[in-house]
Amino acid sequence: MEIFKPINLQSDTEKPNVENVERVRCLIIGSGPAGYTAAIYTARANMKPVLYTGMEMGGQLTTTTEVENFPGYPDGVTGHQMMEDFKRQAERFGTDVRFGVATDADFSGKILKVEIDGNKIIEADTVIIATGATAKYLGIEAEKKYAGMGVSACATCDGFFYRGKDVAVVGGGDTAAEEATYLAGLCNKVYMIVRRNVLRASKAMQERVFKTPNIQILWEHQVVDLFGENGVEGAVLVKKKGTPEEEIVKIKIDGLFLAIGHTPNSQVFKKYIDTDETGYIKTIPGTTRTNIPGVFAAGDVQDPRYRQAVTAAGSGCMAAIDAERYLAERE
Ligand code: NDP
Repeated sequence: MEIFKPINLQSDTEKPNVENVERVRCLIIGSGPAGYTAAIYTARANMKPVLYTGMEMGGQLTTTTEVENFPGYPDGVTGHQMMEDFKRQAERFGTDVRFGVATDADFSGKILKVEIDGNKIIEADTVIIATGATAKYLGIEAEKKYAGMGVSACATCDGFFYRGKDVAVVGGGDTAAEEATYLAGLCNKVYMIVRRNVLRASKAMQERVFKTPNIQILWEHQVVDLFGENGVEGAVLVKKKGTPEEEIVKIKIDGLFLAIGHTPNSQVFKKYIDTDETGYIKTIPGTTRTNIPGVFAAGDVQDPRYRQAVTAAGSGCMAAIDAERYLAERE
């Protein structure tokens, strides 16, 4: 197989092969609810969108099991099926859906350039970045073993399946606090596994956690393993790791929720696009416009707060409308 040499978009001496350059009106990067919704709207507005899916076709939803909170699916739907439906709807109006990953970008000129798979340049009049965010995991083997069988990174998505059961949330930030209080309303008992002896969460969120009787905080604990026959039945923790009082603790739980942060997938665009300190793309409030004219951002890559499929889809629609108006004004 031929190995393609990455194209350096900054270099004048190393121009990409002309055959590897394609001009499009609207380029969408990402295949979660934001990307596909942007595709449905831009396709119906005759903007002939080309959508590159990224490595994980369908985005984060394909890693969850059942989706029960997306309006329009009264009986629930698997994340995988829902994203298939999004894709079919985008293709029905002519979206050109392609498998490929954005590997570089050059937004320095009037024509916006994005490199795909290190071997092709897409020149676009508008670009919609919908690359999502990736939940952080602890990096232990057991997380992979029990993925979809008791390990989740989204309480709002999966909490319902643990009604009346005992679960644990890992993390001490606002997400962990929010997920723990949400789960406390559904579950029998919620352990919050915190690696330090303080919470990072805001004071208001901390208060809510402390006031919720069925949340128990396990201070200075870290998860090292999970056990169970056909799903998670418990976790092995280390208390006060690296100190003379270090000890192994086992808890019985049916589900483990990771809430140790997300990484927005904005790396490729950071040279040109303004982000906050975590990497979330900054948009002009109330719009999906970024600091670069013609480049719009939708979904989790610009949303540290809500991170829901339905809000991502909504912002994908906004990005499509913003992009269409941008083109109309320019033309
Ligand atoms: P944060 O980065 O704020 O917190 C992550 C938490 O996970 C910290 O307690 C951290 O511990 C812990 N952690 C990180 N890595 C590990 C690990 N390997 N093992 C164990 N624990 C670990 O992420 P959040 O997702 O909570 O929040 C992200 C941003 O979104 C924040 O700015 C937050 O305020 C905001 N947010 C706002 C909400 C709201 O306003 N309603 C809701 C949710 C999020 P340590 O403290 O020791 O570093």
